[in-house]
Amino acid sequence: MFKWVSLFIIIKKIIVLAITITTALLSPLYPKTKIRPNPWHIRVLLDEGTTKKQKTFDLSCPHGFFLLKNPVSKKKTHLKTKKLRVYISSKGISLKKEGAIFKNGSFKRLSIAPAKGYLSTNDQCYDGTLMFDITKNKSFQVINWVDLEDYIYSVLRYEVYQSWPIDMHKVQAIASRTYASRCMKEARQTGKSYDIKNNNFHQVYNGTHEYLHLKKAIKETYNTILSYEGGPALTMFDACCGGCIPGKMGYFDFKKTPYLARKYPCRYCKNYSLYRWEKKYDFDELANLLRSSPRTSAIAKTAGRLKNIKAKEIDGSGIPHKIVLYGRKKTVEIKGSDFFEVVRKKAKSRSFSIAKKGWNIILSGRGFGHLVGMCQRGARELVKRGWNVKKILSFYYPGTKLGRLTNL
Ligand SMILES: [Zn+2]
Repeated sequence: MFKWVSLFIIIKKIIVLAITITTALLSPLYPKTKIRPNPWHIRVLLDEGTTKKQKTFDLSCPHGFFLLKNPVSKKKTHLKTKKLRVYISSKGISLKKEGAIFKNGSFKRLSIAPAKGYLSTNDQCYDGTLMFDITKNKSFQVINWVDLEDYIYSVLRYEVYQSWPIDMHKVQAIASRTYASRCMKEARQTGKSYDIKNNNFHQVYNGTHEYLHLKKAIKETYNTILSYEGGPALTMFDACCGGCIPGKMGYFDFKKTPYLARKYPCRYCKNYSLYRWEKKYDFDELANLLRSSPRTSAIAKTAGRLKNIKAKEIDGSGIPHKIVLYGRKKTVEIKGSDFFEVVRKKAKSRSFSIAKKGWNIILSGRGFGHLVGMCQRGARELVKRGWNVKKILSFYYPGTKLGRLTNL
């Protein structure tokens, strides 16, 4: 009887395993293949600083590491250690294997790759190679050389909610790949040591992740970019446009990027909480901020005690270009961009009106971000409404063409 029960359990386990494997292989969400390598690598700046203070990086990889002279060199030394510590100081780059110093302060530049899979440092896992480099001015840089497709796969995790529809990930993959390619092109032209930063100065990148279903978006948009006049377009994007028309912005020069000067509104983002927003400042608090901020301090002090603040020269996208400060001594004007720097901790975009209500100043604004290019909340809504990827991209970047990245 016991034997029959055991046999039944084993057969049941085999059937469950077979179903799981078949489902995984057939499911369009989990492509069985790895991401196809792209001919292009991107160089992502992960960290930089001075060598005056010693800096330490702990690396781990269960399969060991390869040491390389540079990220593309074929000659590599296999280190059979699961953990490696990199020290950077004014003396150079040192390496410590588990238990002992391996190389002491002998490198000015060093590249480390996982022997297999990815390596992790500071709780982040990275594909590709990490290059540690001591630069001329007693400073260092850590640059991740990574396949462009692996990079985009990572960016999707941080620039779009992983639960959003797959077509939205495809839209974002093309926008992000195009943006990255543009940065690569500019870096090569100017001789920069890296192509792109890993934060929202460019695009957020924190290494690879486990949301495997996003690979489908990479696979189906492989090496696809939006081009304009033969090169990658500047595909800026932000969270929510607030219905602002970028083509009516007074401060942005669209001459080289006419596809960013969209002349019609996107209102598909209007259900998002930051489509319209309101932020309140205590009047005295804002007056103090204006008097203490480096950009506005001198001129705000000449006005004397402030009585009121008003917006002026408001462009077609709702952005004020001048702010008038009414003081007891005199009335002065400051640049809208300088005022925005003072309030940017609260203001979600540069498109806002200003009203004094009692002892408060109320900023009533539109959208979240720089308001140029693709509106992610709007694009997501368009996916829901059944628009295809191409139509959504041409709505936000009119005049660009879908194509492959073939040269930089
Ligand atoms: Zn929008």
